[in-house]
Amino acid sequence: MMRIACLTSLFILLTLCASAQPDEPGKRPPNVVILYGDDVGFGDVGVYGSKMIPTPRIDALAAQGLRFTDAHCAAATCTPSRYSMLTGEMAFRQPGTGIAAPNSNSLIKANRFTLPDLFKQAGYTTAVIGKWHLGLDDEQPIQWNGTIDPSPEAIGFDHHFILPTTNDRVPSVYVSGGKVLNLDPNDPITISPKPLGDDVPGTAYPNGRTNPEAMTKTPGDHQHACSVTNGISRIWFMKGGKSALWKDEDIADDFVAEAGKWIEKNKDKPFFLFFPTSDIHVPRYPHKRFWGKSELGLRGDAMVSFDWSCGAIVDLLEKHGLTESTIVIVGSDNGPVYDDGYKDGTETKKASKASDRGHFGAGQYRGGKYSIYEGGTRTPFIVRWPGKVEPGVSDALFSQTDLMGSFAAMLDRDIPEGEGMDSRDEIDTLLGKDKVGSEVILVQTNNSKVALRYKQWKYIPGKNAELYDLSKDIGEKNNLVNQQPGMAQKLGEMMQTYRKQGLAE
Ligand code: CA
Repeated sequence: MMRIACLTSLFILLTLCASAQPDEPGKRPPNVVILYGDDVGFGDVGVYGSKMIPTPRIDALAAQGLRFTDAHCAAATCTPSRYSMLTGEMAFRQPGTGIAAPNSNSLIKANRFTLPDLFKQAGYTTAVIGKWHLGLDDEQPIQWNGTIDPSPEAIGFDHHFILPTTNDRVPSVYVSGGKVLNLDPNDPITISPKPLGDDVPGTAYPNGRTNPEAMTKTPGDHQHACSVTNGISRIWFMKGGKSALWKDEDIADDFVAEAGKWIEKNKDKPFFLFFPTSDIHVPRYPHKRFWGKSELGLRGDAMVSFDWSCGAIVDLLEKHGLTESTIVIVGSDNGPVYDDGYKDGTETKKASKASDRGHFGAGQYRGGKYSIYEGGTRTPFIVRWPGKVEPGVSDALFSQTDLMGSFAAMLDRDIPEGEGMDSRDEIDTLLGKDKVGSEVILVQTNNSKVALRYKQWKYIPGKNAELYDLSKDIGEKNNLVNQQPGMAQKLGEMMQTYRKQGLAE
């Protein structure tokens, strides 16, 4: 027995030595911070070609790090994109993971293995500060006036300070520790897709459809013109929660302030911070100090706000001496969209089309938010890790869904059986050692249309299947499905295989 015990101890010791344990002196694994934009397109960042929106802080991260040109979020809308990144599983595998309604319950179940779970198991402290949009609670109605459970804590985030859905949906409040922040119990929150009458308690807000004069800031279309809070109408109606309301123009500052407090508190041990800002999602109403800082109206100014937020987090890391020990990633959850439910005066043309004013939100790519074409998912992606990641540009094909598998490899951790089925070890790609990246990735729209990228090829299945050779046709204009039937068939079969078994099998 003694011998077995000794051998076991030795085994444990060797295992501990083999992986960089957080407790091991001098072997602290790097912090990981994901600065995540909302609807930020490939062409919205200066270093990616934007001439009309200054983004000096993101450009600086790109200069100090590795800038990807063919990195993709998993989906062309918020909810499935975030779902896929955090679970390592393409969202189309789980029905009901399209854009989440204001009352959506938690889409990632508590028993799932997630990206924050991975970090937690490796000894990290974890937090999400920003826009959530992955559902909350497991009962209806969501317990806005009590304890929301499950909250992000159930899927591996030690701390959360979130805007629960999106800034164009009610309730316009923050949730932290499973509670609505600053809620007056005498003014309970109720939300509904239908107008709420006098029989429902709580502060009443103007109805944007019947009282359009209340929409003083950025008028919404019919869908977005339900309850008006802070002079801006939202999707769905709300009563109550007046003391808890956020102000659109303060959201960026609120998130940065919270991140500052959290980093200060947790700086002495490895941490993972997921920082998904609400910029540049509609309604775009950044702080006044950003107004006019771009040449593209409020959408461009919201992008300047996002750049500021990224810079503020970078400054916090520097202030605490964490620059060298932190991997900073800048990304986006889907491609660009211009006017989208609000007349914010930005643009009315589709993001994929040439603007009169020369801005291309999707860069040279076709489509944007909601689209299966490259502009829907090919988004800015930058990795900075001073001294470890050589600055430069990488044309490697990469999917955000592979973050879990990649960090699992870096931290010498295993992904449990049956979890993360689309998440592979691409750590060498992420850190710039592999400049080719994945041979194949899957991407999807909100409504589960799925496409495959194989090297330079793009295959979109369906009755009118599409095949593009991006090496010659970056704008996905010439469908080669009839000219290259062999390739189309090969990719169609490949797609069936991966749809069924997962990319990581
Ligand atoms: Ca989004």
